[in-house]
Order: sequence, then C-alpha cells, then structure tokens
Amino acid sequence: MKTETKASANAQVRKGEGVETLIKGGTVFTASDSFKADLLIRGEKIVELGERIEPAPAARVVDAKGLEVYPGGVDAHTHFELPFMGTVSADDFESGTIAAACGGTTTLIDFVIPSKGGSILEALEAWHKKAAGKAVIDYGFHMALVDFNDQIASDMVKVIRDGIPSFKCFMAYKGALMVDDAQLLEVLSVTKKHGGLLSVHAENGDMLSYLMKHLLEEGKTGPEFHPAAHPAVAEGESAHRAIALAKMAGATLFIVHLSCQESLKEVKAARCRGQLVLAETCPQYLLLDDSLYRKNGFEAAKWVMSPPLRDKSGMEKLWEGLRDGFLQSVATDHCSFRFKGQKDMGKEAFTKIPNGIPAVGDRVNLLYTYGVRKKRLSRSQFAAVTATNPAKIFGLYPQKGTIAVGSDADLVLFDPGKKGRISKENTHHRVDYSAFEGFELEGLPTLVMSRGKVVAKDDEFVGQKGRGKYIKRSQFDEGGWR
Ligand SMILES: [Zn+2]
Repeated sequence: MKTETKASANAQVRKGEGVETLIKGGTVFTASDSFKADLLIRGEKIVELGERIEPAPAARVVDAKGLEVYPGGVDAHTHFELPFMGTVSADDFESGTIAAACGGTTTLIDFVIPSKGGSILEALEAWHKKAAGKAVIDYGFHMALVDFNDQIASDMVKVIRDGIPSFKCFMAYKGALMVDDAQLLEVLSVTKKHGGLLSVHAENGDMLSYLMKHLLEEGKTGPEFHPAAHPAVAEGESAHRAIALAKMAGATLFIVHLSCQESLKEVKAARCRGQLVLAETCPQYLLLDDSLYRKNGFEAAKWVMSPPLRDKSGMEKLWEGLRDGFLQSVATDHCSFRFKGQKDMGKEAFTKIPNGIPAVGDRVNLLYTYGVRKKRLSRSQFAAVTATNPAKIFGLYPQKGTIAVGSDADLVLFDPGKKGRISKENTHHRVDYSAFEGFELEGLPTLVMSRGKVVAKDDEFVGQKGRGKYIKRSQFDEGGWR
C-alpha cells in the first residue's frame, strides 16, 4: 500500500514537472560504500537510488555505464579576489568557481579576511558582494579573526547563528594577521560555547619574522630562501601550542594546510591521548617538493606559499596520514597570482612575493590519479577526503558531500580510463602558469552537476554565471570524529 502511494505520487510529479534526470548504469561511490545504481534527480535533489529505475517519458537520461559516480567535491579552503601583500589574488568568484566546477568541485568555502580593527560583519558583507552574481557553484564562508575584542566576540555569536560556524586565526604573518596566544584562547572559548570550530594557520610568526629579517640582512633575497624562512620546526611548534591551547579551552581545533611531519606528529599525539584535533592537507604538499625552489631561478616564486613545499621524504607520510584518518580533508588553499605582474613584485626580496598557488581546478583530479590510481587511497577514501569529510566538519552534510536521497544533486561522473595532462595551456585558472605543469592524469570527470544542473562537460564549463548559492552551514558537531 505504502509503495503504491509513493509510486503514484512519483508518477504525478513526473508528469507535471518534466525536470528529471536519470543517471543510469554507473557505479556509485560514497565515503562508506560502493554499489551499482541508477540515480534519479528531480529539480535540485537526489530523490531515488535504485538498481533499475525506469525513466519518465520526459526525463533526461545520462548513460553512466562504465563511469564512477562520486559526490561533488567540497574544497574548504580558497581565497578568491583576496587583497593580500599589496595586490589582489587573480581568480575571482567567477573564474575560480568555473575552474572548480570543471575539476569536479561543486562546493567551496572561501575565507572572509577582515582588516585589523575592522568589523567582521562589514567584511562578511564585502565577501557576499564579491561572490553574488558571479559564483557558478555553491559556496560558504569561513570567518578569519585577525583581532579579538568584545565586539568581535558578540559578532562571532551572530555569524555562527547566521550559518558561519568556522573561524580561522593566523599564528603567522606577524604584524599583519597574527594573533597571540591569549587571543587564541578567547576565540576558542567562544567557539566551544557556541558551536563553532576554530582553524589555525600553524606557523610560529615570531620565528618566521626573525628568520626573514636575518636572511635579508645576509643578502639572501631570492625565492630559494623562502623555505629557509619557514622551517618545519616553526610549523610543529605552532601546531603543538595551538593543540595545547585548545586542550586548555576544551575546544576542538582544526589545522589548515598541514604540510609536514612535525605538525602531523602533534596531531597524532593529541588524537592518541583522546583530544579531538582535525586537519587538512593540500595537493601541493602531497605531490610537490622543495626542490622546486632550488632549480628554477626566480621562477621558484611560482611556488612561494606558506607553509612552503617540504622535503620529498615526508610526502608519503602525509598520504599515510590521510589513509589512517589523522588528516581528514584535502583542500587547496587556492590563492592564485600571475607570475608576470604579481609574483614578480618580489624580485628584490622573497618576502614580497605574494604567497599562494592556483590549485582549485586540479585538486579532485590529482587526488584521483595520484591517490586512487596509485593505490594510496581507496575510492571511498577519495570520496571522504575530497567531499564527505569537509562537508561533515564544516556543517554542509548531508546537503553536500554525499550521494543520498534528499541530498543536493552535486555529482561528478568520472571516466576511469580518460587521460589528460595538467598544463597552463588548458587551465581554467586566471593565471599565466600551472603549479602542477606536466602532471599526467588518468581518470577524469566527464560530467559535473551542481544542484541537478550540468555545470561542466569534459572540462568545458556549461553552467551559468551567478547560479551558485550561498549556503548557510550548521554548527560544528564533534560526534563521529572521536
Ligand atoms: Zn589559506
């Protein structure tokens, strides 16, 4: 009886709407399962998963035979149109989200970065203006805190209630964005009390500024000295301190762009004694190493980012960290600057090179080829680290990050046999180089959907400017991570 009612209701909607898409014959992968299934999408949502679903007459049918169907990627760390180091990052919410969509990412979380002394609510408004009308996929915001006072404390509660539960503090960039330990403790106590989550950029800002000063005094001004100014010990120390502060405050901590063993060790130690610390790494730390700084002359500026690329010997350990669950998420920290006209602002001193690389369009593809194909990650682990885990940590789940009835129809259809190669010639990033130039890819998305609409087909953008929606996120839920 129940089934009949459901079936006739379905038939009615099907007759009336005609906006159904049936994805037929693919293999679905989620963070926990894989199964052969047809997927029925009505409007913006997934409404049915089943072994064999018959299409309504007006339905659009996508033949997914031989394809792998994944939840649309969630990149929880981007910087579009960010005023930084005397310039503005090159990709805005239009080019950045187009690149993301073509590369299998359907939701991203960008960082609102207020100015020192400025209102976080005003900064948030400014970010809304940057994104609205431009984004082609859905997005949310994290709130950076470069200061702390009573006003910020009460505004934090407002923004948590308004769908921004995640904050970020910088332990680096002394004299600009850095906050001190007392401020970190204040922020942690607010996040703990009101269902927020604090992320930190873990590098010891005092160590870094000391090293920069002395390197420059010694005439060591080229980009090859950038890693020397950002040693792994400064990241390890900072991670250790942030974890201790979070422990004292009784709050959960998230470490962004974890790049080395020194900080991974701290995360592992904390988890082993029962403290909840979560962390992300980035494709660049998994796949690129610091030899790039030594062999490229000033072109090494292309990879100047903080933290910097590390020694090759540690990269496999980061993959292990992902596999073992100490690192939950892979985000890009996409912050792109053109080599000519932006990166070259640091010709005289590496400390003036705008920090960051383009990566938002490459993340999912790199993780598939170098994670799944190279047998470092299972297909379910791939779904977890590129979509499900960041969606869960940052309050987007189950609307985003999974394939389930009721979830948004954000999907990536992967052809496991399709080959490609990353190059500046075929990048969608609005810059004049690729950080992953020459990387071969095996397995590529053929179709990407955002809320039921196809946004990219074989690396070509076919979506609509401004269709991306701002997503309010739910409060941090630590259940499931312990
Ligand atoms: Zn960042």
